Amino acid sequence: MANMNKAVVIGAGIAGLITARMLSEYYKEIYIVERDDLPTTPANRQGTPQSFHPHRVLPRGHMILERYFSGYTNDLLDNGAYPSDAEEIVLVNPFGNLIVRPPAGSASSSRALLEWVLRRRVQKIHNVHFITNTEVIGFMSSEDRQTIIGVYTKERKKNSQEDLLTADMVIDSSGRSSKVIKWLHSLGHTVPNQEVLKVFLGYSTQYYKIPLEAQKQWRSVISDAQPAKGISNGTLIRIEDDIAGTLLFSAGGEHYPSIKPDEYQEELKSLNASEIANIMDYLEPLQAPRGYRTSESIRQHFEQMKNWPSGLLVLGDAFCSFDPIHGQGITVAAIEAEIIENCLEEQIRNPQPYFERHVLHRMQEAIEPAWWLSSIADLRWNGVKHIGTTPLKGVTFAQKYIDLFTKKATELVTKGNSKFYLMQFLMNSLVLPPSKFFNAEILTIILNDNGSPEEKQVRAELDVQDPKLFQQRIDECIPSFDSAFDERLNDVLMSFEQQ
Ligand SMILES: Cc1cc2nc3c(=O)[nH]c(=O)nc-3n(C[C@H](O)[C@H](O)[C@H](O)COP(=O)(O)OP(=O)(O)OC[C@H]3O[C@@H](n4cnc5c(N)ncnc54)[C@H](O)[C@@H]3O)c2cc1C
Repeated sequence: MANMNKAVVIGAGIAGLITARMLSEYYKEIYIVERDDLPTTPANRQGTPQSFHPHRVLPRGHMILERYFSGYTNDLLDNGAYPSDAEEIVLVNPFGNLIVRPPAGSASSSRALLEWVLRRRVQKIHNVHFITNTEVIGFMSSEDRQTIIGVYTKERKKNSQEDLLTADMVIDSSGRSSKVIKWLHSLGHTVPNQEVLKVFLGYSTQYYKIPLEAQKQWRSVISDAQPAKGISNGTLIRIEDDIAGTLLFSAGGEHYPSIKPDEYQEELKSLNASEIANIMDYLEPLQAPRGYRTSESIRQHFEQMKNWPSGLLVLGDAFCSFDPIHGQGITVAAIEAEIIENCLEEQIRNPQPYFERHVLHRMQEAIEPAWWLSSIADLRWNGVKHIGTTPLKGVTFAQKYIDLFTKKATELVTKGNSKFYLMQFLMNSLVLPPSKFFNAEILTIILNDNGSPEEKQVRAELDVQDPKLFQQRIDECIPSFDSAFDERLNDVLMSFEQQ
């Protein structure tokens, strides 16, 4: 990091916008190169095909977005987003229901509105410049190929010439379609094997106008999937302008949610939650259901490259893409931007060699819990496979533990105690470290001594009665994620506990 004059960010998706905002306090000039023409109103665009589908921001991501874009929630609300203060969410699992309120001060909107609100903020930052309708087509490097010193770009119009944009730092946030590996190969670098979750997932989404009579008693619904029975995940959410969306999701490739209106309606009826089908009588469809399919989630391991070039970082979906049903992508991108910021601060105070590799390592620590949690959930579907040089730890144990926990937590909810159910929600929201969820103390609470056959099986699997040894065995099964969490999350935790 010899100079901090000019940074280039590839892609003006959500990861690119957060990164540009963060970098604007460290670099003199930031250039965001985006292949799309960016709409001046909230609208879906070609470069982000996922944006038609509902996007929610997990509480941890919301906290970081508010830090970088103070008051962005108010901007969303001013543009018709649905306030969380008004919202109740019914969480439905095979064992029962729980009603939660999202943390006060957040809002629910379409992805297009969220991106537009953030983009408008970034467009007002004096040292951030957008170069749109222009694609990055490769890296320019130093002669020894160990430093990236710029990017080659090409305007997206006929007969345009290649251009060069020099930079002290290039950050690739070009999403799932990133060409970073191809560009590294062309410089002669060997890239480590990726970890792949062969997930074969399908989404199908439909939007509706909510008439006045259905607005009064509005409740959003998240209906858990039951992969063993082939029951899809279903979601009913509200976005801006009194519009609701339903989303069907399944993985494994045996069945993809239908995009035919009649079949889609039937599939909504077969979810664990009857609430979604019930409200259909009141909603007016705005269009036919639309699908999205992908066969893989991919986690890169660039941090393992000993000769990773200086002047280059990668974040967002380009570094690790997740099964979107778990809603982690934006939050992980936001965490990664914070990590870059923290590392820049350390580097300014105490410069160290291999800055970029260090940043990639720190990001990988933050990716770890999100990847593990979403993978163990997806591996419940027949047909989903993990491929990687190191197998995922503790999958079967974690799945059984989670089932027992969910059953017990749901039982407790009916007795007025929602603490445990919230713990699970918060772990999946990347707020609560998994070590607070998977531990001997909790296990003792959720397992009865004279328990069910499943409970006995979990005990037998760990094969110890002594709580200390028991904890030791859990630590062996479950990866340690503690470096991915920090004490600021306690505030988010408390805001939930006070509900
Ligand atoms: C169906 C679906 C639903 C999802 N739902 C959620 C959710 O509920 N919550 C959540 O947190 N996440 C969700 N995600 C994930 C989320 O969309 C991403 O994780 C998040 O937006 C961060 O993505 P990104 O900025 O890295 O990439 P993107 O948002 O894909 O942006 C990449 C940008 O780079 C541009 N680009 C690409 N190549 C080039 C190039 N060579 N030159 C210039 N520009 C280029 C593209 O045009 C685009 O603008 C979902 C994803 C999918 C697929």
